[in-house]
Amino acid sequence: MRARKYSIANFLQLVGLVALGLTGFSNSSLAKNIATYEIQLSRNLKTLNIQVTPSPDQVLTRLRPLSRNAWNRLDKNSLHGLTIRRSGLTVLPTAEHYRYSVDIRGGFKGWIQGNILTEIAVRVTDSRDWFWVPDKWQANDTIRVEFEIPDGLSVSVPWERIPDMADEPGAPGYFLARPVMLFKKSTVLFGRLQLEQVILPGGTLNLAVAAKTKENKDRYVAWMRRIARIVVDEFGQMPVPFTQVVVIPTWFGNESVPWGEVRRGNGSGLLVMPNNGATMAELVEDWTLYHEFTHLYHPFLGGKGRWVAEGFASYYQNVLRAKAGVISAEYAWERTIAGFARGEQQTRRGKTVASGGLMRTYWTGAVMALELDMRLRRQNGTTLGTVLGQFADCCLPASRTWRPVRFMQKLDEISDTKMFTDIYRVYSSGTDFPDYNKLLRSLNIDNSAGSLTFDASPLRDSIMRPASR
Ligand SMILES: [Zn+2]
Repeated sequence: MRARKYSIANFLQLVGLVALGLTGFSNSSLAKNIATYEIQLSRNLKTLNIQVTPSPDQVLTRLRPLSRNAWNRLDKNSLHGLTIRRSGLTVLPTAEHYRYSVDIRGGFKGWIQGNILTEIAVRVTDSRDWFWVPDKWQANDTIRVEFEIPDGLSVSVPWERIPDMADEPGAPGYFLARPVMLFKKSTVLFGRLQLEQVILPGGTLNLAVAAKTKENKDRYVAWMRRIARIVVDEFGQMPVPFTQVVVIPTWFGNESVPWGEVRRGNGSGLLVMPNNGATMAELVEDWTLYHEFTHLYHPFLGGKGRWVAEGFASYYQNVLRAKAGVISAEYAWERTIAGFARGEQQTRRGKTVASGGLMRTYWTGAVMALELDMRLRRQNGTTLGTVLGQFADCCLPASRTWRPVRFMQKLDEISDTKMFTDIYRVYSSGTDFPDYNKLLRSLNIDNSAGSLTFDASPLRDSIMRPASR
């Protein structure tokens, strides 16, 4: 998430909620479908009518809400086969189907939800506010979701599309939902969307663009393709088989891409809001999307690991732009080192990085990323990007929060080193901003005279050199 829009209250609320128990689904051969949800969208984009049918061998006892707001959205007169209890909706054992309706107008938490983008008739929702889930939904279990959508409208979700229904990308979708990070934010869009699938090594981007014209959509699709290809070059492949990418053009803010964030709820998703007026050249030069894509290569690391997450993303927002050739390597180093300097300025000495200072949080981990990348290149013939790509291949999507030290142990295991845990220990316990000038000197960057000078360095070149294409 971008620094200036960060809300501490939101964040703490999420950290609290993700502690609830969900286990991994690494062994997909054990997967079973526990229920089918048929979801009917009203043409006026105001209501969802939801029918839940448990699979024949499944006993459903209760549907539970995923947010407090779900209670406010629920139409209490719509219930069929369900009774309201404090803990959720308990089922009447005699019923075959269970039905409830949800009002999806307004009232959604966060600054974007509740907006219906009237000009293009798109409703932006968070599935936590209407997707009431079976009590025992966990591990390998799936829920089959079948949307019934009025003609001309479509839906975008962070779920896997059921393959035999995938031939018509604009058609109402059938999906498989999995119990992944259920208490985190997600984006579900209904309305006049332009959909497109972008197939890349290791995964598919399921794009939904809330734009009026095909020309606009094509520009955003081309933007995604361009950046995703750079990302794949650096990390080896897409991080997960399915990534939902929602593009909502906006007039808000002066920058080319005023907002971007990763949404991990119920899958793997990116939400980006480019400025309506931004040209293709401005879009590819902006750092936001490179930053957010990088976040998809690590699991959610909780409050204690936030500096690691933001550090990796802040490092790659410059590396990837240089690799893309949209900024020069010298300028990318300048931006990186300017970030380090901001982090250093905001450091209250005597406290560790986890104790805060927004720029310190963002840039301490970026220094660590640089050190790791340098050492891996020098000593192990690999790169930080490659190791993160291998991590994604092994361990993502993650169904729960990872402790940062556990993440480092796994990266050690993958790279066959002890480097990650060793360096992490030094950086996480350090009570001052790390000495990045030492690293710069070994890259032949002189930062002593108030401006940067560069002497030849094959190692430095290998980090930022544009990919040949
Ligand atoms: Zn971030």
